[in-house]
Amino acid sequence: MNLILMGAPGAGKGTQSAKISEKWNIPAVSTGDMLRAAVREGTEMGVKAKSFMDAGQLVPDEVVIGIIKDYLSSDKCKNGFILDGFPRSIPQAEALDAMGVKIDAALSIEVADEKIVERMSGRRICSGCGASYHVVYNAPKTADVCDACGASLYTRDDDAESTVLNRLNTYHEITEPLKDYYAAKGLLVCVQGCEKVEDTTAAVMGALSRFEA
Ligand code: AMP
Repeated sequence: MNLILMGAPGAGKGTQSAKISEKWNIPAVSTGDMLRAAVREGTEMGVKAKSFMDAGQLVPDEVVIGIIKDYLSSDKCKNGFILDGFPRSIPQAEALDAMGVKIDAALSIEVADEKIVERMSGRRICSGCGASYHVVYNAPKTADVCDACGASLYTRDDDAESTVLNRLNTYHEITEPLKDYYAAKGLLVCVQGCEKVEDTTAAVMGALSRFEA
């Protein structure tokens, strides 16, 4: 299965992408995670990307298109893949089409803006394995410690409320039109993001059941 995962920032793409990846045994790639790694490592790309990310804006299309092109041409993706957070603009979607990659579905997780702001202020990320938690809705067993690998949890810089509001504006203006783009190709599947992670997971798995081997 070749899947695109869409949704507003904080809609739960990362959590669902990990679950789909495990069930289908296909790799998930998050352009956000790759950009954050580049920022941490201080690479040229990371330095370029950081100011856009801190402002809640999209990193220029050519940067993320380059990352994805390299990734999709690797052997890892030959049995399928999940793109978490790519494409995020029409030019990115057109670049993906131009790569000749066949997409089976574009799954959008729908969450109202007011819920997003509440969710992101409580979001905590594992510094070791990247797993995502929420202090209320998906709390780790021990506060600030990852259930999966035991590393400490942190709050992302771009989860500050003012940045979240910018990220939401960016999403509605530049990314959301992709729903029409994929609907026109008959590939759009929308599921409701729920309060409880397991309810969203059930909706996601139900929507993807027709791709089961
Ligand atoms: P995410 O972790 O997916 O929420 O991404 C965090 C930030 O990385 C976004 O707010 C953007 O600044 C940048 N980013 C991630 N994916 C993309 C993309 N496909 N296009 C442009 N910028 C991106």
